[in-house]
Amino acid sequence: MRIDILTVLPDLLTSWFGDSIIERARTKGLVQIEVHDLRKWSSDKHRRVDDYPFGGGAGMVMQVEPIHKAIESLKSERAYEEVIYLSPDGAMLDQSLANQLSTNKNMILLCGHYKGIDERVREHLITREVSIGNYVLTGGELAAAVLSDAVIRLLPGVIGDETSALSDSFQDGLVAPPDYTRPAEYMGWKVPDILLSGHQARIDAWRSQQALERTRERRPGLLGPADEGEVG
Ligand code: SAM
Repeated sequence: MRIDILTVLPDLLTSWFGDSIIERARTKGLVQIEVHDLRKWSSDKHRRVDDYPFGGGAGMVMQVEPIHKAIESLKSERAYEEVIYLSPDGAMLDQSLANQLSTNKNMILLCGHYKGIDERVREHLITREVSIGNYVLTGGELAAAVLSDAVIRLLPGVIGDETSALSDSFQDGLVAPPDYTRPAEYMGWKVPDILLSGHQARIDAWRSQQALERTRERRPGLLGPADEGEVG
């Protein structure tokens, strides 16, 4: 997979993608992430990419021209399945959307800044708009990092244990059961006996039950009426 990110603050993202699992995925060639400074496509002598809003009002608006040129320049080199604008009023990012996006080969992520972007970008250049929550950030960079991380960890080979990403919360419509590691007892706080029993079938059943109970407590909206009834 290749992800091209368009931003006015490339340094914010360079450090995020330069560490840990994502960095290893890049080194292994499982994902290519290219962060582009939108100012590269500015025709202004001061490399500005924003201007005052028509009709007045507070804040600056990112201009259509540099964004259009940037997207066309990338598209002239390869085909992209998605050009995604990170936006507070976009479709909410969830596991199902991350799964869907992880099947793409090439994606462009556009980070807004200031008051936002010229609406004509949204009308003519974007295939999808994605939000990471009902709150407003100063720019789309964190949202682009969140989306990229959620997608990249699903790519084959990125997470050491192949089954790990599939057993995470939401993949089976439930949140994850609790995890424990050594020591078996700390300050009198004990690990549930079942996990030390060595009886794998019972452990699996316990984990399923825990996942169901936790989902009912924390994310009841994930459960259909039949599932809700199963928890005692
Ligand atoms: N005026 C816009 C509004 O009211 O919807 C908010 C603009 S915000 C200050 C600047 C940029 O941050 C947006 O263009 C978008 O790219 C990004 N952004 C802010 N909150 C976001 C969120 N919850 N999800 C995704 N992107 C977000």
